Amino acid sequence: MDAVSKAEISEKLRLLPSIDALIQSDAGRLIASAAGATHATVIARKVIGEMRDEIIRGVIENGADRDSILTAAVNRMTKEFAESERTGIRRVINATGVIVHTNLGRAPLSDAAKRALSDEAGGYCTVEYDLKNGIRGRRGRRAEQLLIELTGAEDALIVNNCASAAFLVLTVLAKGGEVIISRGELVEIGGDFRVPDVLSASGAKLREVGTTNRTKLRDYANAISDETRLLLKVHPSNYRIVGFTAAPERSELAALARERGIPFYEDAGSGALVDLSAFGMRDEPLIPDLIREGVDVVTFSGDKLLGSTQAGIVVGRRDLVERIRKHPLYRALRVSKLNYTALEATLESYRRGTHFAEIPVLRMLTTSAEELSRRTKALAERVGNSVEESALRVEVTKGNSVIGGGSAPDVHPETCLLSITHSVHSAAELESKLRASEPPLIARIIDDRVVLDLRTVGDDEENELFEILSVL
Ligand SMILES: *Cc1c(COP(=O)(O)O)cnc(C)c1O
Repeated sequence: MDAVSKAEISEKLRLLPSIDALIQSDAGRLIASAAGATHATVIARKVIGEMRDEIIRGVIENGADRDSILTAAVNRMTKEFAESERTGIRRVINATGVIVHTNLGRAPLSDAAKRALSDEAGGYCTVEYDLKNGIRGRRGRRAEQLLIELTGAEDALIVNNCASAAFLVLTVLAKGGEVIISRGELVEIGGDFRVPDVLSASGAKLREVGTTNRTKLRDYANAISDETRLLLKVHPSNYRIVGFTAAPERSELAALARERGIPFYEDAGSGALVDLSAFGMRDEPLIPDLIREGVDVVTFSGDKLLGSTQAGIVVGRRDLVERIRKHPLYRALRVSKLNYTALEATLESYRRGTHFAEIPVLRMLTTSAEELSRRTKALAERVGNSVEESALRVEVTKGNSVIGGGSAPDVHPETCLLSITHSVHSAAELESKLRASEPPLIARIIDDRVVLDLRTVGDDEENELFEILSVL
């Protein structure tokens, strides 16, 4: 670099405002009052650092004076703050049609669960207190009792998520011994839950039997030895083997396990508490059926088809669940009062028999294509009327929703899509504008068009959605 440009650069660097000048600006004061003086300083430093780099790299053009650089820095600081404020957890409208959307928090809670969270669990509450006797109570007792009633199991307990439930069960029941599992069930679910890895982390040895597509009862029987601690069955969730396949009936495995005195554990993953086969869900095991067919321990998630908060649920034989409850790892994986509260409220809907009306996941899953068509057409008409003069065009097409969360990958409920196009913006630009709206609207792009699926949009969100579209 020659001497002249070096001199120019130091000249420009001298025009940069001080950190203090930024903090004392109106924008700096606003940030400090909203997020604290330290955060205002952090942002001011970042902005000055970036602008210094740009001057050195020659990005900031000639002719900039002290005032224009100060204005630019202040504007940047405001933008930086606004962007950082959008990075926390915020409500969004999910118009993707993916019902159990893991990136968007999986199951939305029922009104009853939301109410219970704010009315019961926000402050002091009886999470571990026996009101009748005024002494310490059993944590999670009511949620466990609801699970016992709803599944027919002898006992139940709740931990953080299904991955930790599986880890806990394997650690307590199989550490140091062998676990027999079919080669067809050594699956990876959702990227970071891999059955062989969970097994080895728990200190159990994997004993694979059968082949990827076919495993017989005698494969399991022949593999049983003095080292065997568990027979394990894992629901393949987001993966399907089709064609020339075979696996023993669950009841046959249960009989074998009983005869040889070995517990039979099934990780059902999603699992449903009620029959959803009328809605295409034929491969999702019903938890009460598993218990009836003789599975000794079952684990499943709280925030997939069950439709509640993140949790890992363990149900099964009393002696086995009691062993798990007594293990120190259970204490390490326990859930908060918030999880218990949301679970209790959700499970009460099942017990009342009002689950299809009250639990959003079930309501969305069971909404008919006709109902969605009616809602979508009405919205399309409303948007069409309000944007007559604009560059936005809306159209109603047929499509399919997605169950998501690794559940039922081959079930694609028929739906109606609101397809939107813009004469100026590309589909990608439009999708990004929707994401930047208030509240953010999350959409899918199919065949270069932005599409909205009302299956996952609440009735109470339709007005907001309309407002967002009408100003595009
Ligand atoms: C989803 C799933 C898990 C993991 O459940 P999380 O609640 O997300 O921890 C474990 N096993 C199976 C079979 C699953 O489908």
